Amino acid sequence: MTSVLNHNNHVRNNVKTLAMACFVYITPVPWRNILCRLRKQSLITVINYHRVDNDNCDINAVSPKNFDRQMSFLKNNYTVISIKELLERMKTGCNDQRLVVITFDDGYLDNFENAAPILKKYNFPACFFISSGIVGTDKPFLHDMKRLGRKIPAMSWSHIRKLHGMGFEIGAHTINHVRLSQCDSGDLEDEIVGSKDMIEEKINAEVSYFSHPHGLLSDVSSTALSIIKKTGFLCNFSAYGGLVQPRDDVFDIKRVGIPNHESLLFFRAWVEGWRTG
Ligand SMILES: [Zn+2]
Repeated sequence: MTSVLNHNNHVRNNVKTLAMACFVYITPVPWRNILCRLRKQSLITVINYHRVDNDNCDINAVSPKNFDRQMSFLKNNYTVISIKELLERMKTGCNDQRLVVITFDDGYLDNFENAAPILKKYNFPACFFISSGIVGTDKPFLHDMKRLGRKIPAMSWSHIRKLHGMGFEIGAHTINHVRLSQCDSGDLEDEIVGSKDMIEEKINAEVSYFSHPHGLLSDVSSTALSIIKKTGFLCNFSAYGGLVQPRDDVFDIKRVGIPNHESLLFFRAWVEGWRTG
């Protein structure tokens, strides 16, 4: 019975790999990218990571080895830009290069210890969205307690200041990593305005980018968006997948979560918008 199941899984994986290879190398990706380039409307992929660590139990953790291989692949095949440059490209609505933006959510310690040195090795910009009431404290993220039953260490403010000093962008991700669609208007104001104020005070620099915690379509609240705009943020990021077109709304910038996988074909498929998991 076990061998039949193993055989079925093996066949399913081979079919999936073949489908991904067709998607990336035959159609639609190559044709779509050529067409977009001719129209000067090349797509942009905003990648979203959470952790870079050898924590096999956490599906949000990409191993440092795989992360390094993924960055090397980006170096050879794409142009990696900062959010600042992304917003400039989106403002002109014109783009003739296949671009990638790298972002991290939450503010885990491994971002500083494992991801930042690798990003520096490739000279890549990246933005770290942090929950300002959890970094610099012993508080756990509730989603880690629910999923893993344990706390994952977050960065200290000293780490975050160092990241900023290294040239990385720092963005806001609320104070307490709340689901904004479930907050009342008072909490919304506190979580959005408060996170901006707190990070700005700690790093002594303006914070202009916001990412929605959880980030599913159902988590994005129109009331939250109006507060985000009013507070002076320049853009907002979700996390429910999809690629960005140069003329998209900067308050509805889609991101693609990247799983931990050794195969660069899988990575390329995800960067190019493969969404079937
Ligand atoms: Zn988050």
